Parts: sequence; C-alpha cells; structure tokens
Amino acid sequence: MPISHNRTNIDGVMVSTDHFIGGERVPSDDTFEVRSPLDWNRKLADMSRGNADIAERAVSASVTGFRVWSRLKPQERNDLLFRLADLIDARADDIALVECLDMAMLLESLKLRLIPRGALNFRNYAQLVAEHQERSWSSRGTQNRIIRDPAGPAVVITPWNAPFMLSTWKLAPALAAGNAVILKPAEWAPLSASLLADLVDEAGFPQGAFNVVQGFGGEVGAALVSDPRVRRISFTGSPETARLIGVAAARNIVPFTAELGGKGPLVVFADADIDAAAKKAAAQFEDSGQVCLAGTRLLVESSVRDRFMERFVHHTQAHVCGDSRDPATTLSAAIHPEHLARVEDFVERARENGDRIVFGGRRVFDSKLWYEPTLVEPKSNDSEIVQKEIFGPVLTLQTFGTEQQAIKLANSTQYGLSGIIYTRDTARAQRMGRAVRAGTVWVNTFLVRDLSAPFGGYGISGIGREGGDYSLDFHSDLKTLQILDGSVFGPA
Ligand code: NAD
Repeated sequence: MPISHNRTNIDGVMVSTDHFIGGERVPSDDTFEVRSPLDWNRKLADMSRGNADIAERAVSASVTGFRVWSRLKPQERNDLLFRLADLIDARADDIALVECLDMAMLLESLKLRLIPRGALNFRNYAQLVAEHQERSWSSRGTQNRIIRDPAGPAVVITPWNAPFMLSTWKLAPALAAGNAVILKPAEWAPLSASLLADLVDEAGFPQGAFNVVQGFGGEVGAALVSDPRVRRISFTGSPETARLIGVAAARNIVPFTAELGGKGPLVVFADADIDAAAKKAAAQFEDSGQVCLAGTRLLVESSVRDRFMERFVHHTQAHVCGDSRDPATTLSAAIHPEHLARVEDFVERARENGDRIVFGGRRVFDSKLWYEPTLVEPKSNDSEIVQKEIFGPVLTLQTFGTEQQAIKLANSTQYGLSGIIYTRDTARAQRMGRAVRAGTVWVNTFLVRDLSAPFGGYGISGIGREGGDYSLDFHSDLKTLQILDGSVFGPA
C-alpha cells in the first residue's frame, strides 16, 4: 500500500501532488502551480513536474507492469476494471468537486453526467472483452482465426477539457485489451488523474499496470511519446500537438490515434423546430465553449433567420455566468487567463477584419476569466473566425438559400469532427447526414453517443477511430492464425 509523499487538501478532498509510477507515489523536486479558474487567486496545488527521467522511470514501470497485466486472464482483468468502476461511482462527488475547481466545468454536469460516464467506460470495455468471440472461418483449405494480442505499454495524453471522462475513454480500452498504460494529463487540469491513481491502487491493480505522470507536454509528454518501448499512443488535444506526436510515433513505427479540434456546423433548415434549434445553438456557449464537438458555426436558412435570431437571443440571455458549483450557473469560466486572452485576440482580429460583432465580445464584469456569449457575422466564409477553432464562447452566424449551399458551407473548413442538423424532413436528414463530412453527425439532438459507435474526425480533426471494438483493435496486435485443414488432430 503506497503512502503518498505529498498531498494537498482541496475543499476536504485529499489529492496527491506526486506522480504514480509502478504502484508508488513518486515526487519530483521541481513543481508547477495549479490555480482554480473559479478564483484565480486561489492556488490549488504544486504538482510534481515530470521530465525525461520521470518519463524513463514510468516507461520502465509500464514494461514490468505489462508483463503481469497482459498475462492475467481476461476475467481477472475485468474483475479489476469493474471494481475500479464501482470505486469511481463511490467517489464521484469528490472527483467532480476537484475537477470543477480545477477546470471550471459545471459541477452538476460533472456529478450527474461525466464522472458516472467515466465509470461506465470501464464497465463497458470489461463487458465488451468478456463478450468478445474470436472471428474464425474456413477458406482455401485452411481454418482462419483472428486473435487479439495485447500490444504493449500505451501512452495516453489528454487535454484540459473534461479530463477525467476523456481519459477513461482511452484508458478503459487500453487496459481491457491487456496493455499497461501511462496517463499524462494536461498541465492546466491535472488533479482528477491523481485521484484516479488512488482508486486504481485501492482496486488492487498490479504494480505498473497503470501509471500517471504530471507535467508539461513539451517536457515529460515529448519524452514519453519518443520512447521506443511504448507501443501505442492515444492522444486528444490540438492538431498542432498531434503533428509533433505523429513525428515521434513515426520514428518508432508506433500506431497512434488523435482526437483533435473541431469547428462543427449547426445547420438550421426552415422546416425545423426553430425554437429547439435556437435553444441548442445557445447551449453551445456552455462550459465557456470549451467543447471540441460544439456546433460553433450557425448556418441558418435565410427565410427563418429573423425567427431563429429572436429565439436564439432569448435563450442566450437566459444564461447565468458564475461559479460552476452554483446549480444556477450555466456559463462557466475559461480555463486559464492565457486561454481567454487567445479567445479575445480572435474576436479583436475579427473586428479588425470587418466581421460584425452581433453581441458579446467582452469580458463579463472585467473579470479575469468569464467571457460574454459572443456572436459574430463574418464578412466572408474565409474569415479566420469561421475557419479556425476558437474554443471559447464565440459562435458565427451565416445564412444559406438552398440545401446545396448549406452542404458547401458545412464542409468548408479543414475540420470534420462533428455536425448538428435541425430539420423535420426525413429524406433531408438522411441526405445531410451523409453529405456533412464529419466523424459524428447529429440530427435534432447533440452529444448523445452510444459507446460502441466509432468516434473520431475527418480532416485535421483526427486520425483513427475510438469507441467499442475500434479501440480494442487499436490497442491490440491482430494476428491471423491459419491451420491447414486435416493437418492437426485432437481436441482444440
Ligand atoms: P494541447 O494539444 O495543447 O495539449 C493536449 C495534451 O498534449 C496536454 O496534455 C499537453 O501537455 C500535451 N502535449 C503538448 N505538447 C506535447 C508534446 N510535444 N508531446 C507530447 N504531449 C504534448 O491541447 P489542449 O489545449 O490541452 O486542448 C484543447 C484542444 O483539444 C482543442 O483543440 C480541442 O478541440 C481538443 N479536444 C479534442 C477532443 C476530441 O475528442 N476530438 C476532445 C477534447 C479536446
């Protein structure tokens, strides 16, 4: 039972500030400060700052952990995954509170939706592995069988938005497939990963099967992804970082998946339920717009523009900026002053470019981290504000006359993560669903996702697919076993 060297008390929840390597808490001499976006004057923790030595130690531990973990029976691994899911459920309130203080997501949403979803990810993958049947068939005088072998140590690198849930989405299939993992959470929101390490320890995982290293991407992150002993890399973050990780992965011929940014269209046809569409459009401001899947480009059929705008303004005005722990709050703070400055710069450049700021475009009450819901009507579809991911509470509004124009606008950026369509016409729903180039397209809804469905992006929104069997295949070395018919005897 490892004793934590350094813990900090965050509103009654004890959080280790050390790495978790080989089943032990490991401190670094160097640390980095974590502040709360809910009150930037409040320091939450000094976290251990990993470097190349820590990365080396974590990879070595994961190699040892892999030997044990990969040789357990799937049922033994599954028992531990189910146990971990139960422990997450039991500590959901603590994890939600710490994550809320760490990165400002709405507390209710974390408690009710995202943390339970994290537990579900572990259950779901344990179940999927338990139900898995190796595919076999005969052809050309042989028996063919497809076998999944655990691939080796996997590195999981996550961003600062919804970090707990997003990490479990990757950790669960990696572990269920039999791989040891090293999780490197984002330096702006590292705390919930440390709580997860406590739960893994409590569940009784073998040492080194699950490791967490804290620190900056360019330091410990870059060292992890460059280590040739790492056999899978699963990354969520920006396209810029994905390019760097891709180069490291290519050097070692290591498969990697990348879930990247988005600039999703939210298309509203005249035949749609306009109030429902406008309400969903206003909901894109939630979590301060820091949602990769958000429909940030509103594309509205010209004939219903005024009707849509009246309802959209109505629903936007209902937002309440404030402390994410308050159930009345619907619009949370930005993660970090540097990030908000980036969002502000986008809007300032849009102003200079001649794009029209319809509403918003300022900080709320001159606060450090809250930004008004902002709508921009671009001068042209080439405007930066339309083409680049902002990751803040900033939407653009454009109109179209025909379905063909809507498709052209929807598909006019380099991204392709998600799309949202509002229409009541079945045939149009099918046509648009097929025509919009994105990994996930929702019609008359948003963010509903079956865990067995593939998830990922077209274009610069990603490489590879995660979810269900897609993740298990990614984390496995797939083998084809062919046995000549009639050449072997005895029970199989
Ligand atoms: P980021 O790319 O800056 O950082 C993501 C992670 O990569 C962090 O843990 C960071 O420390 C690490 N990192 C940075 N440089 C590295 C390097 N050289 N080597 C290894 N690791 C490195 O992204 P962010 O700002 O944390 O997150 C926001 C981005 O993530 C947005 O673009 C958003 O759309 C995207 N995102 C995508 C999804 C999705 O599922 N597609 C989900 C959430 C967020």
